[in-house]
Amino acid sequence: MQEIRFYNTLGRTLETFVPRQAGTVQIYTCGPTVYGHAHIGNLRTFIFEDFLRRSLSYLGLEVTQVMNLTDVDDKTIRQSNEAGLALNDYTATYIESFFEDLDSLHVERAEHYPRATEHVPEMIAMIETLIDRGFGYVSDGSVFFRIAADEDYGRLSGIDLSNQQRGERVASDEYEKEDARDFVLWKASKEGEPSWDSPWGPGRPGWHMECSAMSMKYLGESFDIHCGGVDNIFPHHENEIAQSESATGKPFVGTWIHSEHLMVDGAKMSKRLGNQYTLKELVERGIEPRAVRYLFVSAHYRQKLNFTFDSVAAAGKALERVDQMRFRLGSARENGPPSTVIAAAIEQLRKDFAGALANDLNASEALSAVFQMVRDVNKIIEDEAVGEGDGERVFAALADVDRVFGVFDPTAWQADDGSAEDSLSDEAVENLLADRQAARQRRDFAESDRIRDELQSQGILIEDTPQGPRWRRG
Ligand code: AMP
Ligand code: ZN
Repeated sequence: MQEIRFYNTLGRTLETFVPRQAGTVQIYTCGPTVYGHAHIGNLRTFIFEDFLRRSLSYLGLEVTQVMNLTDVDDKTIRQSNEAGLALNDYTATYIESFFEDLDSLHVERAEHYPRATEHVPEMIAMIETLIDRGFGYVSDGSVFFRIAADEDYGRLSGIDLSNQQRGERVASDEYEKEDARDFVLWKASKEGEPSWDSPWGPGRPGWHMECSAMSMKYLGESFDIHCGGVDNIFPHHENEIAQSESATGKPFVGTWIHSEHLMVDGAKMSKRLGNQYTLKELVERGIEPRAVRYLFVSAHYRQKLNFTFDSVAAAGKALERVDQMRFRLGSARENGPPSTVIAAAIEQLRKDFAGALANDLNASEALSAVFQMVRDVNKIIEDEAVGEGDGERVFAALADVDRVFGVFDPTAWQADDGSAEDSLSDEAVENLLADRQAARQRRDFAESDRIRDELQSQGILIEDTPQGPRWRRG
């Protein structure tokens, strides 16, 4: 099997990835807090995790992925109260919206989507273990993690808390802690908050605790990969390590992989700047989810990605180049023996593609391998040198790389939006094409372009050839 290398945030080096159990990989990915619709920054992270999952599977590993749903925290509670709804009724809307977004972006489903509210007993059990081992203490019905007891705290983020105030009782704005650095494992409930019974009275779990308890439940005390956006490194993932390793005495996770943030128009997304788009808002502006997926997967996960309307349009154009090649190849006449150029192009793609993925998920290199094949095939089509079976072989090679990218089959994207049912009949397409020809003849190019755009918006691909226009459904 190909050697796989990842940049491990723990240690900050590129290192060879060795799964705990040969042939399999276990991945935990921090999921959405379901108090509102996901913004496209969140979606970049989820698409990255999908890309990781698909790449590992392409490279021959059997993947088990868990993504939690944070359906109880300060924000979900506050917002559900403001909306006058029970917590579950409130979050249901956003859980549904989250899965709709994943489907629109062709994100493969993880094996498990555990919800925090359904795993409170597991979290209580882990907190009890931490208290028994001297890492947790109770204060006014809440439970805190005692940072002073954890000698290697800070390994992931490199944070040094030693110069912070310690050893004296500090009243934070909400709870009484022994030490300002300590973080909450269990929060005593306040008036009007949903709560669960616990040995320390009614309350609810802290956010970090849910990921420790749920990852261990589904993946065991130690597992291969844990992901999230870079903002999760501190304090969330640092605290997960502290809790998990203090509770079990075992290493928690082998490889930590964090994806960089999405920016919009060069700025951090924020409500104030009005640049915090949801996928649905982009779709309303006529942007195709397929182009969004392509834009997000084409950038390296460790680089900030700047979303602009131009960049997503360019992503659409790049996809069109592949669509056009598919179309031309589909209607090219095959004669003679298979092209040796095409055979070599496919072989090269296979090699370069897997190598690029295995090298810390180098998406741009993997894509340049795809576009190299597209160029080679276009040349053979122009030379009218497409041989028998070449079309099928190229389509199979594209389908193979699409197991990872999930963007190169236009029909897979059209089936989603219901356009298959209400698309134009063949006769309607022929009529529109005839109108377009007539417009061209009278040199009314504005009109002929308009018709072409209309056909394209219905998923009809047109190619002008010396024998006249040819078309097919994309
Ligand atoms: P949340 O719903 O706030 O818990 O976030 C869900 C995921 O989105 C987390 O893994 C975050 O790291 C990630 N995230 C938040 N903001 C951005 C952003 N601007 N770009 C990329 N990922 C983000
Ligand atoms: Zn988490």
